[in-house]
Amino acid sequence: MAATSDPHVRDRIAAYAETTPEPPPLGSHGIETTGCPRCRGTMWRQRDLFVCSACGDMKGADPMTCPRCLTAMKPPAPGRHPHLQRYACPFCPRKAAPGDTREQIEERERQRARAVRLLDAAIQERPSAQALLRDRRLTAKGHG
Ligand SMILES: [Zn+2]
Ligand SMILES: [Zn+2]
Repeated sequence: MAATSDPHVRDRIAAYAETTPEPPPLGSHGIETTGCPRCRGTMWRQRDLFVCSACGDMKGADPMTCPRCLTAMKPPAPGRHPHLQRYACPFCPRKAAPGDTREQIEERERQRARAVRLLDAAIQERPSAQALLRDRRLTAKGHG
C-alpha cells in the first residue's frame, strides 16, 4: 500500500468503492492487489477478477501455475494467515505465495533445494546422524 497518502489515489479508491456493488472482500485472505498492466494503477481483487481502481481495466485472477509443470497449483488451505498462504504444485515440490511471479517461484524452489542440500551434507558429515536415520528406517520397516 505504497501510495495511499496520495490524495488522488485515495479519491480514486473511494470512488471505486462507491461505484462497486461489492467492496473488495475482506476475508481470511485479506485484500489482494496487483499492478495494472495498462496504467500501472492498483488493481483490487474481486472474486476471480482484478479490477483497476484507476482505469477500470480487468484481468482474470489466474490460478497459480507451476512454471515447470505448467499445471494449476493447489490453492492454499483456507483460513491461513495471508503471509503463510502457499500454492503447491501437485507434481513437483514447487510452492508459490499468492501473486508470485514465475521467477519468484523458481527462487523459492532454489532456496528450498539449497536448504535440502545443506541438510544432506550436514547429515553425511555426521556418521552418528546417518546411523540414526538408518536405525529409524529399519525400525519403521520392522514394525510394518
Ligand atoms: Zn489501470
Ligand atoms: Zn511443478
